[in-house]
Amino acid sequence: MDHDARTGAGLPGDPGDGGAYDVVVVGGGPAGLSAALVLARARRSVLVVDSGQPRNAPAAHAHGYLTRDGVPPGELLALGRQEVEDYGARVVPGRATALRPGGAGFALALDDGTSLHARAVVVATGLRDRLPELPGVAERWGTDVLHCPYCHGHEVSGQRIAVLGEEPHAAEEALLVRQWSDDVVLLLAEGVEVERLHLDRLAARGVEVVRGDAASLRLDGDALAAVVLADGAEVACRALVVAPRLHGADDLLRQAGAATETSGFGDFVVTEPSGLTSVPGLYATGNVASPAELVVDAVAAGSRTAIAVNFALAVDDADQALAAQRG
Ligand SMILES: Cc1cc2nc3c(=O)[nH]c(=O)nc-3n(C[C@H](O)[C@H](O)[C@H](O)COP(=O)(O)OP(=O)(O)OC[C@H]3O[C@@H](n4cnc5c(N)ncnc54)[C@H](O)[C@@H]3O)c2cc1C
Repeated sequence: MDHDARTGAGLPGDPGDGGAYDVVVVGGGPAGLSAALVLARARRSVLVVDSGQPRNAPAAHAHGYLTRDGVPPGELLALGRQEVEDYGARVVPGRATALRPGGAGFALALDDGTSLHARAVVVATGLRDRLPELPGVAERWGTDVLHCPYCHGHEVSGQRIAVLGEEPHAAEEALLVRQWSDDVVLLLAEGVEVERLHLDRLAARGVEVVRGDAASLRLDGDALAAVVLADGAEVACRALVVAPRLHGADDLLRQAGAATETSGFGDFVVTEPSGLTSVPGLYATGNVASPAELVVDAVAAGSRTAIAVNFALAVDDADQALAAQRG
């Protein structure tokens, strides 16, 4: 059948002229695809636009998602896209570059110049991890430089694990990581002060504390071997835990006027539990709004958001019908 995959024009049961959808989902990671699945099953016309860079792409395997533990991240999303498309939603590659409220919904622009209209928009664009500026960290990110023991702790359990201590809270991270190995070392950067109680807890659990600024990583073949300190000393380790700074990929949400607030994670868009932002009809779900969410949480959040969106549209459908009846 002749159709335009982006606007859906020419497809049965799909949007009318001008690329108008019930819902456009921006971002086709776990949160966005989950939202799209629920909305498509609710017989809404749905377009997902996705720039194809999910946060966990550097990792070979995603863990902790029931029935799919250890699945390659790309495979999980390919399965998700298939399920979404099986219900008639469109999933297209591309980047949404503009979003503004208007015309009883939202106008969107994609990077190839396509214009779309949606009654409601779900932004599921994830977040950006800003890594510590330690040479080698970016290259090893997702393999043996890690941030989440729940994601990859089991894979390095029992090995020597270093925790990069550039902030005081690294002491608590080291205490947590101790659950996965009895050979943990905290590399406390010069000048970082840690509460006495935390130091005592670390000592009680046999966590070594080394003072010194990390300068680089040393590899042994294709595996991390040590963190090299500024004075040239080496701290051997097979994995390094770091704490990236988290930045929501929320340019579109801000552009559309969504309110933000600063929390312990940084400056993120404010949402209700449903994902509704301060802008009516505009939802944010997954890591873009909740940076601590793992894949299973992002899938749940996407579903919750979709249910809220569908109800809001159902009320709107009824109001429109009522207005038409009353002339
Ligand atoms: C290295 C690493 C390993 C991880 N391992 C695990 C693990 O093992 N288990 C686990 O549960 N969690 C893991 N996580 C966390 C997991 O990545 C997140 O929970 C999950 O990706 C959040 O899903 P999301 O849909 O909110 O965002 P994402 O998965 O990041 O998806 C967002 C999507 O939106 C797209 N996008 C962004 N902006 C635009 C735009 N303007 N237009 C169109 N598309 C756009 C992106 O390209 C991307 O495809 C890991 C994280 C990292 C960093």
